[in-house]
Amino acid sequence: NQEGQAIWSQDKEHFIHPYTDYATFKEEGSHVISEGSGNYLTDADGNRYLDTIAGLWCTNIGHGRTEMADAIAEQVMKMEYCNPFGHSTNEPGSVLAAKLAELAPGDLNHVFYTCGGSTANDAAIRLVHFYNNQRGKPNKKKIISRMDAYHGSTYIAANLTGIHGTKYSFDRIADEWVEHISPANMYRRPVGAEDLSEDAFCDFLVAEFENRILQLGPDNVAAFIAEPVMGAGGVLVAPKGYHRRMRDICTQYDMLYIADEVVTAFGRLGHWFASEAVYDCVPDIIVSAKGISSGYIPLGAAIISSKVYDVISQPQCEGGLLSMGFTYSGHPVACAAALKNIEIIEREKLNENVQALTPYFYELANGLMDISVVGDVRGSHFMMAIEFVTDRRDKVSFPAEADISNRIYQHCLARGMIIRPLGNQIVLSPPLTLTQDDVERLFTVLRESILAAWNDINEAG
Ligand code: PLP
Repeated sequence: NQEGQAIWSQDKEHFIHPYTDYATFKEEGSHVISEGSGNYLTDADGNRYLDTIAGLWCTNIGHGRTEMADAIAEQVMKMEYCNPFGHSTNEPGSVLAAKLAELAPGDLNHVFYTCGGSTANDAAIRLVHFYNNQRGKPNKKKIISRMDAYHGSTYIAANLTGIHGTKYSFDRIADEWVEHISPANMYRRPVGAEDLSEDAFCDFLVAEFENRILQLGPDNVAAFIAEPVMGAGGVLVAPKGYHRRMRDICTQYDMLYIADEVVTAFGRLGHWFASEAVYDCVPDIIVSAKGISSGYIPLGAAIISSKVYDVISQPQCEGGLLSMGFTYSGHPVACAAALKNIEIIEREKLNENVQALTPYFYELANGLMDISVVGDVRGSHFMMAIEFVTDRRDKVSFPAEADISNRIYQHCLARGMIIRPLGNQIVLSPPLTLTQDDVERLFTVLRESILAAWNDINEAG
């Protein structure tokens, strides 16, 4: 339609989109999405799509909730903003902090608010550094991250991110502080670990971590950061016991364990937070964003332990001033949205819905393994990746020109479904409100789309 066409051209001329391939964008522009309701999105031409990625791993309660609009409007009318810098506060920010302390594991009782996941990771690293400065350990600064990790797009978060390749070749400003070790990728293991059992692979990864700490000197290493399940790196589920053992190593070397739960929290793995509930690991800091407000309003949070808080709140260094923060730290409207979001997840028992639907979700997903180009189906709860190969035994990837995941994406679109293409994989992370019928529809459409894409590739020769 005409209105949609006008938006499409304004967008193409003026909107710089994140992570966009300009070779195709300049030709094709973007798909204009106009409405959302429940698990569905509608485009400017009125086509409806099952949203299997929950926006971008974030609209956990589904789209278009009137209750959320009301909570947001109510807070705007009551008091849209006040200064969060120490001397004044607001009700939703304070109530949400107490609620997060109640939901988070262990003694993670203190919340530093940000505007999203990248800024929350940045804040976490600054807090870790400040913590060590306060303890008289100013050299203990290095952060160990993992290749294929995704921690965001500010400069330090991009440095922590381990997805490097020519496509992501920005300068890296903080290499002095950031080290990368192997990802816990059971499907594509590092050299030397190809044939190990799951337990032995776990030993391998833990030994690599400890060796790196010893090599760098424990007095120089401040923290380890990890996603409980690596998301954008390909939904990688670590071997059993991995997080718990990495946590123990951190404790042994006086390092902090930072869990980046930007994706995995607020129900995606069937619990408020995945670290302890799913992986028996209580971190020192949990970083959250996305599902905390289901994307209705941007919000991020670094939730820190009392152990860390007690040190950073000592009035010794810098006159006791925690010299970091944002105008929008604890924004009342964002916090009001998060509180309503949490209320909805609780009331509608959405964590329980994820747990109940998970076996069926994986049963149908594993059924795709009868298609020979499906190399691996993996994930945890409502986080899944399907990886495509030309040869399953040798795990040979499709050449980039085959464009397999984008082809599948296009075939899904034509059948009324949005998925996320990611190199040789596609990723699923549906709203927690998914129904059994949606699951059936999802895998029927996906099967047809994979076969159609494969057919296209064969025909193209
Ligand atoms: N951490 C993880 C695990 C993420 O998946 C993302 C975003 O996808 C981020 C951090 C960055 O969050 P944001 O895009 O809100 O800055």
